[in-house]
Amino acid sequence: MGLDLQSIKQMLLAILSVQPQELTCDECMEFLDRYAELELAGKDARKAMPLVHGHLAICRDCRQEYEGLLLAVRALA
Ligand SMILES: [Zn+2]
Repeated sequence: MGLDLQSIKQMLLAILSVQPQELTCDECMEFLDRYAELELAGKDARKAMPLVHGHLAICRDCRQEYEGLLLAVRALA
């Protein structure tokens, strides 16, 4: 596998997407509602709120909270 421009770009993106973001758990929780709304509305929540997505990818606690929230909202709908 050579290091062409495309794979370097992809590598950079991968590094950026797993870097700890400037979002604390408290801040993340504040956005979870809106993030879940976007997701349930079929919108690209990841693109709209990359910081939240990034935090969810690295934080198990918030991920669990988010999944619980999704379940709760779906159960209500
Ligand atoms: Zn967290």
